[in-house]
Amino acid sequence: MKVQIVKDILSANEQIAQENRRLFDEKGVFVLNIMAAPGAGKTSLIERTIEPLRGRLRIGVIEGDVASSIDADRIARLGIPAVQINTGGACHLDANMVCVALPRLPLDETDLLFIENVGNLICPTNFALGEHLKVIVASSPEGDDKPYKYPGMFSVVDVLVLNKVDLLPLLQFDLDYFRRGVEALNPDVAFFPMSCKTGEGVQEWIDWLVERCRAG
Ligand code: MG
Ligand code: ZN
Repeated sequence: MKVQIVKDILSANEQIAQENRRLFDEKGVFVLNIMAAPGAGKTSLIERTIEPLRGRLRIGVIEGDVASSIDADRIARLGIPAVQINTGGACHLDANMVCVALPRLPLDETDLLFIENVGNLICPTNFALGEHLKVIVASSPEGDDKPYKYPGMFSVVDVLVLNKVDLLPLLQFDLDYFRRGVEALNPDVAFFPMSCKTGEGVQEWIDWLVERCRAG
């Protein structure tokens, strides 16, 4: 019985996600669902991406958090339209939350929309939002075993950003072990080692993203 209930919830979500996707495609908005554990650097990645694209692509952001508007305030300070969704305890965004937030964004004047999910490596995997790309931000202090411990997340994403690589010399982080774990699950993932703090690796990500966004 329980399994049936879960299935129904997921298919209802899938239906709304498809409606979101239709709207994005109609408006010509390319959408990224950014997922990660808390503190990995999702908001920092978005900030780092906004700066070099200013004047090239029109960007919008939806921030998902259990509480507070700290992240949306960070984005709004950059002069970028931002909407905060507070889930009030729920540990992931679902398609309906995104659907409700969309009228508050200028979609007609948006080329690229970031949806920052709630910090969580498990259930965001199961809830499509209508995005074109799923992105995971891992960070070096979390450890090199993350792909082995969270195979669900690492196998569904299109993009993997490994943030905080500037800290690698200080950590017991075996990059080859990490990469082998990712490769076994998801050999086609686009992998970007990066430091949002120093800017290392950001340009490669920007170039790739602009190309994907233009391709639609
Ligand atoms: Mg954040
Ligand atoms: Zn959840």
